[in-house]
Amino acid sequence: MKHLSSRLNKIPASVISEMNNFARLYKAINLASGYPDFNPPEALVEAAVNALRKGYHQYADTAGRSSLRQAIARKFSRFSGLEVDGDAHVTVTVGSTEAMFLVLAVICEPGDRVLIFSPFYENYAAGLHLLDAQPVYVHLRPPEFLIDREALRREFERGAKAIIICNPANPSGKVFTEEELLFIGSLAQEFDAYVITDEVYEHIVFPPHRHVYAAALPGMFERTITCSSLSKTYAITGWRLGTVIADEVITEQIRLLHDYITLGAPAPLQLAARTALEFPDEYYAEIARQYAERRDIFLEYLERSGFGYIPPQGTYFVLADISGFDFDDDVHFCYWMVRTVGVAAVPGSSFFAEPVKHLVRFNFAKRPETLHEAGERLMEIKKLR
Ligand code: GLN
Repeated sequence: MKHLSSRLNKIPASVISEMNNFARLYKAINLASGYPDFNPPEALVEAAVNALRKGYHQYADTAGRSSLRQAIARKFSRFSGLEVDGDAHVTVTVGSTEAMFLVLAVICEPGDRVLIFSPFYENYAAGLHLLDAQPVYVHLRPPEFLIDREALRREFERGAKAIIICNPANPSGKVFTEEELLFIGSLAQEFDAYVITDEVYEHIVFPPHRHVYAAALPGMFERTITCSSLSKTYAITGWRLGTVIADEVITEQIRLLHDYITLGAPAPLQLAARTALEFPDEYYAEIARQYAERRDIFLEYLERSGFGYIPPQGTYFVLADISGFDFDDDVHFCYWMVRTVGVAAVPGSSFFAEPVKHLVRFNFAKRPETLHEAGERLMEIKKLR
């Protein structure tokens, strides 16, 4: 048989998926992959049932159902303060995973350097390798994951087609401040680079931190491409609804490629999603409050069970420090933890370009009873090591 494409040689298997599979095998409580174990608002489920009953079974407008695009534009304007137009600037994708891939494909030429803060979410590098573009990692300094401004400037000077900002950041839980975003924006302007954001956790931010939309900063809209999704905000990760907001020229190219890659996101779910986009401000305040509660429950167990941790400013992830237990590395620890106490996490090393082996990522988007059960199991670790 002829050999398969070598394009994939640089792409490692998804560690998050590996841990999910291992968790399934051992029927462990899965705090690895980032999805909730609770249902979305009932109104949304009703809307989906109605959409199916009303016969919305065929393709929608491939760029996204027009009324949904308008609703996304209105919601983005409501929270960012920046007016965007659903027809000119918004594309609906199959999750933000497709969104990010389309954006990278539209922007990158082979050999282009794209800056990524480390720690990072695993998808970005895979997309870049597939395009023969080059991920360039810029270290964030723990525990607050601060930007080394000199180092960042140096990488821009060496040449950067774009920078990816995951904000709030998976897996670190960092929420970039307005001042940090202005600094990154000023470099992007000086060196004429694109800013690509992944803002899927935009509504999961813990006070006093607040989410700032990079695209809404002065002079940034033309060079900023905002990827987000409905997955996290409305607890519908399986609906696969993502969004890209970009200027007209970029949007045209994104839609061109999107037509060939997926043709469109699920049509009945697009119709139903309009209901979510019209939820009042209180909905968003309430989910932020609920996530803060889940975070507090889980962090207390981490503390009591001997983990250190880096307090997340946003997202539903926490990086926990396993130095207190006697393990060579995070990968062994994670496999051991699934087998021995029945809780799955993701080895932190898969998110870092640096040799970091003492962190693991837990997802706390779970019902209180799940968090309590997982927490009780984590308390066993001290006795066993
Ligand atoms: N974005 C989610 C996470 O970081 C889900 C990714 C996945 O399941 N591969 O866990």
